[in-house]
Amino acid sequence: MCAPKVLLDVAGLQAGYASRQMPFVRAVDNISFRLYPQEIVGLAGESGCGKSSLLKTLYGLVEHPLRVEAGSIVFCGNGHQHSIIQDLRATQKLRWRYLSYIPQASMSVLNPVVRIEKQFQELMEIHEPGLSATGSQDKVTEYLDQLGLSSTVLRSFPHQLSGGMRQRVVIAMATLFSPALVLADEPTTGLDVVVQRGILQMVRDMCEQYGTTFMIVSHDVGIHYQITDRLMIMYGGYLVEIGTTRELFEKPCHPYTQLLIASLPRLGDTGKRSGIGGSPPDLSRPPQGCRFHPRCPQIMEVCRSEIPELLEITPGHYVGCHLSI
Ligand code: SF4
Repeated sequence: MCAPKVLLDVAGLQAGYASRQMPFVRAVDNISFRLYPQEIVGLAGESGCGKSSLLKTLYGLVEHPLRVEAGSIVFCGNGHQHSIIQDLRATQKLRWRYLSYIPQASMSVLNPVVRIEKQFQELMEIHEPGLSATGSQDKVTEYLDQLGLSSTVLRSFPHQLSGGMRQRVVIAMATLFSPALVLADEPTTGLDVVVQRGILQMVRDMCEQYGTTFMIVSHDVGIHYQITDRLMIMYGGYLVEIGTTRELFEKPCHPYTQLLIASLPRLGDTGKRSGIGGSPPDLSRPPQGCRFHPRCPQIMEVCRSEIPELLEITPGHYVGCHLSI
């Protein structure tokens, strides 16, 4: 059940991949958190830590081999309480209008052989069936104009646009109906710094103008520093720290967050930054106790056997580490 002013309430979520060839791989383990209206929340962590699996599960994209084992995801962005997992059919009806998802590759959203204009039209026909063709066209053109996108993109096929422009078009589609929540998986990966900055500004503007909440997955902690209000750090399928972005950058508590932040290049710093030693855990055979313990420079005996709980150490700041107890 959603508490007042909560947009998404995730509790005890466990999900992973099942196949005949290998043991169950739990990519999302006992995850709980909340999202609130009009905020930009980042999800950071190394590749393979479960970020994309979590995002897909939140969107209800639970298709074989991905499977949800336990927990709940309650969405309150359509004026009602809706359980994303328990009612996947109804979840589909929320998509685009209330809840949008931007996958890693923009081409997987766009149909390569259909002009952008037609793809917008199809969306309008499904979600605003009462509007005339001219009314739909006007709405799309006006919206693109508000986002600073020239309506000439409408006449293009996806392959005629640059990667950055395609990504902007996908973001425009995902936000056309002012959804309450947009889940974006690596929205700026592979784009140059200037294009990245433009896209991040677009996200910030949409959050402020339309009240949309964004949850952004990126392995690049620098992106989170630039755009997010709050940050969640994921390691080995677990959330290990949640707090305001400022707090996590200025005073990270979890040793993994500390190393992630320390590995970021600083302005004017020409020295080589050290990465995090070792490799992320194999989620089909994760280590016992704290999953970070084989790489942790602050390991204690208890860390080898007991999984630390994610505890609220100051209001809104959660840490899952035995050092913080
Ligand atoms: Fe390191 Fe122990 Fe904290 Fe894990 S629980 S991060 S091993 S100190």
